[in-house]
Amino acid sequence: MTIPALTLNDGHTIPQLGFGVFKVDPAETERIVSEALAAGYRHIDTAAIYGNEEGVGRAIAASGIPREELFVTTKLWFEDQAGDKPLAAIDTSLDKLGLDRVDLYLSHWPAPKNGHFVNAWERMIEIRDAGKATSIGVSNHLPEHLEKVIAATGVTPAVDQIELHPAYQQRDVTSFAAGRGILIEAWGPLGQGKYPLFEEEPVAAAAAAHGKTPAQVVLRWHLQQGHIVFPKSSTPERIRENLDVFGFALTDDEQAAITALERGGRVSAHPDEVN
Ligand code: NAD
Repeated sequence: MTIPALTLNDGHTIPQLGFGVFKVDPAETERIVSEALAAGYRHIDTAAIYGNEEGVGRAIAASGIPREELFVTTKLWFEDQAGDKPLAAIDTSLDKLGLDRVDLYLSHWPAPKNGHFVNAWERMIEIRDAGKATSIGVSNHLPEHLEKVIAATGVTPAVDQIELHPAYQQRDVTSFAAGRGILIEAWGPLGQGKYPLFEEEPVAAAAAAHGKTPAQVVLRWHLQQGHIVFPKSSTPERIRENLDVFGFALTDDEQAAITALERGGRVSAHPDEVN
């Protein structure tokens, strides 16, 4: 099985499918990430705020997988945006991960009421230039936030990692990003289990037609939309199932029927309210 790689706007590549560790218990993280690496995942998405970077680092070290075969993302928490705090935050994350660089460093939330997200982006450019992050991007940034960081620095984020699943596709953000070569990472790709996505008729029908699970159909929809995804599961069978999405393709009609499930409903917070 080969996981496709997408090319970022800075010329580096990213595996289109990875493994997310939001809400993975720090005490269980080494074991669960080890399961994911053994299953074949090579892209891990963590964050300082998840509290489990050490477990991710231990799993990577124990795996023996060459560093250049792995893609590791972590994120700058919004309370560390001001002044030189981002410079200390990346060092803390690298220490916990046991790495001398991450492949992708993201500004986790803009928290616009705090007024520091442009500073955070300026410091992240320094972090990239110092070699501590190969690529840099943002998360939960709306078009007005993207416009501000680009205008201030002339540096366009490589990705915007946003809540995105069939019921909530954020087309204002995705069309803005497409126009500027920013790839979309879809967080909560399965809707975090917060709405009955798997029972939706187009999802269930495609699952039956292809002999796949509803989760596999939804992940396949993301891949065919061009999104980067990193579903989270702590269950070994589901960890493997979520990776087994490259041996089939949705038809154009199936893809369109799932795209039509848009309802405009976030399952999580609005970026302006997280601060
Ligand atoms: P998700 O949509 O991946 O849902 C995860 C849940 O779906 C699991 O807890 C499990 O209950 C269920 N699930 C997983 N695989 C399944 C399967 N095969 N069959 C049935 N149910 C299954 O949501 P998520 O974990 O929130 O998002 C994925 C990743 O995105 C996170 O782990 C994290 O890395 C990232 N994320 C980022 C942000 C951000 O603000 N940048 C926010 C949330 C998540």
